[in-house]
Amino acid sequence: MKALFIIPEVEFLGIEVLSAHLKKHNIETKLIFDPVLFDDMFLRVPTLAKRFDYGKTIIRKLEEYKPDVVLFSLVSDIMPWFRKRAQQIRSISKVPIIVGGIHATSVPELLIELPYVDYVIAGEGDETLPRLIECIKYEKMPIDIRGVYFKINGEAKGSVNNALIQDLSSHPMPDKGLYYDAAPWSTKEYNIITSRGCPNRCTFCHNNLEARIWDKQGSFVRHRSVDNVIEELIQSKLKYKFTTMRFWDDNLLALRNFSHDLLEEYTAKVRVPFRICVHPNTITKETAKLLAKAGCWEVEMGIQTTDSNGRRICGRNENNQMIRDAVHYLKDVGVRTLADCITYLPGDSPRNVYVTAHDIVDIKPYRVIAYSLRYYPRTDIIQTALEKGVLSQKDIDNIEHGYYDGSMKLTSHDKKKDKMLHRLAGILMMSPHLSKSALQSMEDYHMEKWMPDISEIIQFLNQARSIFDKHHDVARSFRKRYFYYLTH
Ligand code: SF4
Repeated sequence: MKALFIIPEVEFLGIEVLSAHLKKHNIETKLIFDPVLFDDMFLRVPTLAKRFDYGKTIIRKLEEYKPDVVLFSLVSDIMPWFRKRAQQIRSISKVPIIVGGIHATSVPELLIELPYVDYVIAGEGDETLPRLIECIKYEKMPIDIRGVYFKINGEAKGSVNNALIQDLSSHPMPDKGLYYDAAPWSTKEYNIITSRGCPNRCTFCHNNLEARIWDKQGSFVRHRSVDNVIEELIQSKLKYKFTTMRFWDDNLLALRNFSHDLLEEYTAKVRVPFRICVHPNTITKETAKLLAKAGCWEVEMGIQTTDSNGRRICGRNENNQMIRDAVHYLKDVGVRTLADCITYLPGDSPRNVYVTAHDIVDIKPYRVIAYSLRYYPRTDIIQTALEKGVLSQKDIDNIEHGYYDGSMKLTSHDKKKDKMLHRLAGILMMSPHLSKSALQSMEDYHMEKWMPDISEIIQFLNQARSIFDKHHDVARSFRKRYFYYLTH
């Protein structure tokens, strides 16, 4: 049997583990990487996106490879892309299309209704997927497999696998070659996940939904063994010669003993400069020192908002002192903080955003990225937005069906207010570089009502500036991706 994965824009770490599982079951795998040129998170130019659309190449590669199944891993953000690609494939081939991923786990019964979806994996797919492909091989219905939705005579049936695999070290090593064969420009920064789950339940996050549907057996937060992680890194460093690293764990430092042991071993045996995501409540003087010693040069810290109402809506329990201490402990050891904030929270007003901006001036992280809130299906924040009149029932249906404006941005339906909030996102991103009095003057003069909207420009400059960071591969990767696909 031959399985073909198709992904857009970035590396999908989960499918590398799935591919390794499939290979263990003698199922051949291949990946097509859709570069989505001029239609990615940094650059949107619709006419050029159409001109360089990868659809025909995907179809040609699919016809050459002749897979027995085609697989997509879905997050809600890529649903418009997925619909387009799956329909193109279905128009020329009857090859079964299987979808999994967090969007599939959130709304499996809706996805299986789509005429171009044959199977939905709902829940962790590591053990489910090889069994499903075995059924397809022998033309059997996957009736006995928990975690698969399918159709019998046009009628949808299925169940969610709500059990979580506890021993992550029992997985085979991720099949990195699957991605690197398709995206050979991207081997300089190595991406890894060492754990699954998070102890927190922020109302906008996928962990919020996953923890709700989990069967509550074992642990929700799980990690690989230190030896298992270090073995992957040593082998991969020899093979791919990466020069920088990124840990993509949701909340690695929350696993205190594991992460401390891992950092000690990493310092001794790998010590490649790296970046990591952190929650402010996990940074102490001790962890900051361990991070710096191991080669961490930047942490991405979720702050989201410092407004008390916003924090309540997000289900966050940190306070400003915690964030201030975390940023200072990191600064003291030479690690810089990239602070993530969210704008367009249900009920956000200019005043709420100014509260956060004033606190950022005080806290002084290295820089701020202001993201617009994205609503993911069946997370708790959806209910809050409905109650506050920010979302209607029709909006919620659209979110669940993956029809959500491409950018996933949905705001207050009040265009004037949206414009102001967008300008405020620019002010928020400028705030680490402003003095208290400058920000106060901006608020006094209501600059959010009349200043030019520079938030996109600041985002772009932030990314462009990373070219000058020795260990930052995002901008370089972007350039290499465009160069590779425009010349091949
Ligand atoms: S701390 Fe981060 S990963 Fe954990 S639930 Fe909150 S947003 Fe999600």
